[in-house]
Amino acid sequence: MVYLDYSATTPVLPEVLDSYNKVTEEYFGNPNSMHTLGVKSHELMMSASKQISELFGIKESEFIYTSGATEANNMALIGTALTYRRYGNRIVISKMEHPSIYGIAKHLEKLGFVIDYVDVTEEGVIDFEDLKRKVTKDTILVSICAVNSETGVRQPLKTVRQVIRKNNENCILHSDMTQAIGKVNMNITDVDLASMSGHKIYGPKGIGLLYKNKNLVLTPILFGSEEGVLNPGTPPLPLIVAFSKALRLALKDLSKKEEQVRKYNEMIITHLRKYPDIKINTSKYCIPHILNISLMDIKPETFIHALESDEVYVSSNTACSHGKRSESVMNMYNDLKRSETTIRISLSYMTLPSEVNDFLNSFDKNYEKLKNLK
Ligand code: PMP
Repeated sequence: MVYLDYSATTPVLPEVLDSYNKVTEEYFGNPNSMHTLGVKSHELMMSASKQISELFGIKESEFIYTSGATEANNMALIGTALTYRRYGNRIVISKMEHPSIYGIAKHLEKLGFVIDYVDVTEEGVIDFEDLKRKVTKDTILVSICAVNSETGVRQPLKTVRQVIRKNNENCILHSDMTQAIGKVNMNITDVDLASMSGHKIYGPKGIGLLYKNKNLVLTPILFGSEEGVLNPGTPPLPLIVAFSKALRLALKDLSKKEEQVRKYNEMIITHLRKYPDIKINTSKYCIPHILNISLMDIKPETFIHALESDEVYVSSNTACSHGKRSESVMNMYNDLKRSETTIRISLSYMTLPSEVNDFLNSFDKNYEKLKNLK
């Protein structure tokens, strides 16, 4: 099997799974219980949280566990909008966001907020002139993802923040960092709120977190026994400990791992350039882990299934866009065919050179076959 869909999800590392299993067996007490089993679980949770806070240089009170990035995005955008609506009703999001952000934006529109969509350049990066125009005195929140899940374009968040602050110093900046964490060096305190997910960093599914600067107040969107708590319910201790372990491992040797992935990315691009009809949807802002191409003359579904017959797994755009056109590619190139025929190849430091070769062999065989059929 050749798995090149690491941006959809990653396999769980054996040591992470060991932690999960060990905690499930040995720490089954509810961290909220008063007895010794509960206390033992609570202490373990505190130590996992301490490790996470140290990894990001934040306080333990500055993040909350969520079920993943979708929930973190919901809490961040809706929670901020409801608290700060007395200062304005405009929210800016980019045209390179994950579908979950667009879903939340639609909901916020129903609640009376106005959503302004900021343009991107052909390189996929925020159009700063447009951002300057769209951030007004009524803009309470800007949400811009750190790395786009379809193309791998990385946004310069520090510059984004400076531009926003110049127009409106109270405007809050959220970033969906799901595709950035564990792939490239990130400073989560460059923004006020950040979302991430365990299953993109070789951790389990069902856990993620939302970083929240200590000065912000979010209105809860979930309700339970304790008033004002953003994530009520029993903390999923095995997931929390496994997530903490996955984060520690993911952030280790980042540059070395990135260089390895860059070599694979370059190998694939060099190889695919021999096909004049294939468009490579990349720019200098892309991280090497995500490589997006447009086949132009072949339907991506047909091609993905052809690769699958060789046990090679890639995506069309994102797993969450359910086979629709790639909005990110559309917004970069304004070319319908290009956006409707995308293939996303997502790489990992775990990828082997032999897997890249197997992928390219399967690609050549299937591309030539399907192209000739046409
Ligand atoms: N944001 C981005 C950028 C993503 O890539 C994904 C996963 N495809 C999500 C959010 C949703 O993450 P989760 O599956 O943890 O809810």
